[in-house]
Amino acid sequence: MTKKKQTAEVPVKKNEEITVTFEDLTHEGAGVAKINGYALFVPYGLPGETAKIKVIKTKKGYGFGRLIDIIEGGGDRTSPPCPIYYPCGGCQLQHMTYDAQLRFKQKQVKDVLARLGGLENVTVHPTIGMEDPWRYRNKAQVPIGTKEDGHLKAGFYQKRSHRIIDMEACIIQQKENDDAVQAVKEVADKLGIKAYDEKTRKGTLRHVVTRHAHSTNKLMVILITNGPDLPKKKELITAIRDTIPNVASIVQNVNAKRTNVIFGEETKVLWGEEYIYDMIGTVKFAISARSFYQVNPEQTKMLYDKALEYADLRGHETVIDAYCGIGTISLFLAEKARHVYGVEVVPEAIADAKRNAQLNHMEDIVDFAVGQAEDVIPWWHKAHGIKPNVIVVDPPRKGCDEKLLQTMIEMKPERIVYVSCNPATLARDLSILTEGGYETKEVQPVDMFPQTNHVECVALIDLK
Ligand code: SAH
Repeated sequence: MTKKKQTAEVPVKKNEEITVTFEDLTHEGAGVAKINGYALFVPYGLPGETAKIKVIKTKKGYGFGRLIDIIEGGGDRTSPPCPIYYPCGGCQLQHMTYDAQLRFKQKQVKDVLARLGGLENVTVHPTIGMEDPWRYRNKAQVPIGTKEDGHLKAGFYQKRSHRIIDMEACIIQQKENDDAVQAVKEVADKLGIKAYDEKTRKGTLRHVVTRHAHSTNKLMVILITNGPDLPKKKELITAIRDTIPNVASIVQNVNAKRTNVIFGEETKVLWGEEYIYDMIGTVKFAISARSFYQVNPEQTKMLYDKALEYADLRGHETVIDAYCGIGTISLFLAEKARHVYGVEVVPEAIADAKRNAQLNHMEDIVDFAVGQAEDVIPWWHKAHGIKPNVIVVDPPRKGCDEKLLQTMIEMKPERIVYVSCNPATLARDLSILTEGGYETKEVQPVDMFPQTNHVECVALIDLK
């Protein structure tokens, strides 16, 4: 296509300043304005607002703009309480009132189910939010760098860059994590431990990761280093223990690779326990340095309670928990079922799941297997005759494998409970289940990640 023709179809020009009214939000949380049907995406624009914007980029069917000035408000704007909100980019919705964030997430699910799943008539409930939607995260992962004066900095990568900006607080983190990160930064700095430098690949400390078990108030500090050596190891351990009284575990993880992935393969306990312990409801979990564990404990309880309610267990049921991680949902459900089978692809997670079953004296009522859900579940069905009454799935963002969906359709459980962190793949999978004879009864969004654009929900699907 020639450039001339392209500009003829696009009603705005690059660098032009125009006035628009925002109608909607993208799933990333940017404002959407339409000019004769041509969509312009403008970060930080909110529905109902009229604003002056500058056109930054135009493409054939849509373009991008930058917010210059709000001419008329829409009532959903608030001033972001975090001083580093704009350069950081870790949160995307702090400029929206919390009530508007919850409405946005509900609408997001509703729209995507209709558009991608053909499910126009499914009830999507109002999002379950937090009373206080701050300081909720139980895990901090903070890159370490060197300030111009040579001292250590611990902070965040500036949006779209690899520049670390020093940070004193992250207000969606539990205070214990913030304090621990600051403490480790200070003691490591005093001991002269050097930060890893991505360019020269020299220096020791790459990341500090802290995990806080909310219910027991114990902390795990994980030092991610550029090699097995950790200078002044003994002094560092003593200083961490002296400054962080509730630390229960200090762990080193070695990552010598040139990569953005935080963790390396080798993990060793430097001091204390290999695990910290947390409770969700009445179930106890051991969490190790690399375990996947939901980051918002208060809302995890809400999410699992909803999954449990949808599973509607009376005590006689056989349940499958696909994508079970360290067995959190499995054990939560096992209290109310006859038997739960959990499957998960990461072997270490299954080792944790088995340990967690023992910890709760549930080893007789749960079984865990390592493998892909789409391979293990058909095998359970064919080779072992396992007939579940209820299947719970909690897949990663890419959703369920098609083979798993077809197996579920063949196995005909009475109910499927689908926990999803991505409404788009949820919609796709629900439409396949609908064709296979299932009916989506209702969907409940739960706000697991306030201030961010992440949307989590649980769906109840019944056999017709
Ligand atoms: N239900 C758990 C974990 C959910 S996260 C919880 O609430 O804590 C999704 C999990 O699915 C991850 O642990 C991931 O390792 C696992 N996974 C990814 N692909 C898989 C597959 N094909 N089969 C089984 N598990 C898989």
